[in-house]
Amino acid sequence: PLEPWHIRGSVVKGFGRGSKMLGIPTANLSTEGHTTLLSEHPSGVYFGWAGLPARGVYKMVMSIGWNPYFNNKEKTIEPWLLHEFDEDFYGKELHLVIVGYIRPEMNFPSLEKLIEKIHGDRRIAEKALELPLYLKYKDDPYLKAIG
Ligand code: ADP
Ligand code: MG
Repeated sequence: PLEPWHIRGSVVKGFGRGSKMLGIPTANLSTEGHTTLLSEHPSGVYFGWAGLPARGVYKMVMSIGWNPYFNNKEKTIEPWLLHEFDEDFYGKELHLVIVGYIRPEMNFPSLEKLIEKIHGDRRIAEKALELPLYLKYKDDPYLKAIG
């Protein structure tokens, strides 16, 4: 298991591809102040807990990287919160406790394969986060802290 790490930032606009193209919305976290962290942690898919202050704490599966399929030039932090929301939450503060690593970033021959893989990642995250080892971090005060 990972030594859990904590990051927070505001939710910024990305290319809008997650929901529209993949049916998988990812709340892009502002990378401001996270450059060291971004360089220290390998690109790939992680899982953990996401806190939206004043709303709740949700399971999340997250990509950190360049999204090779889309050939991005900037490394991004993109958690998919495993919950159905009625509204967007752009501009809101998002707190993350990252507890596990699933796989390195990779490229895919088609959009279908990419989507399939992400759903596989989601299932892994859903199950892993029920294990006491990872479930306990749901109560981490960091997820609810304001400011
Ligand atoms: P963008 O490229 O701007 O990040 P996306 O298509 O990835 O656009 O959609 C992400 C946005 O959708 C988030 O910023 C958030 O406001 C909203 N959203 C709604 N439901 C979710 C969810 N379950 N997980 C992550 N973001 C969500
Ligand atoms: Mg996104």
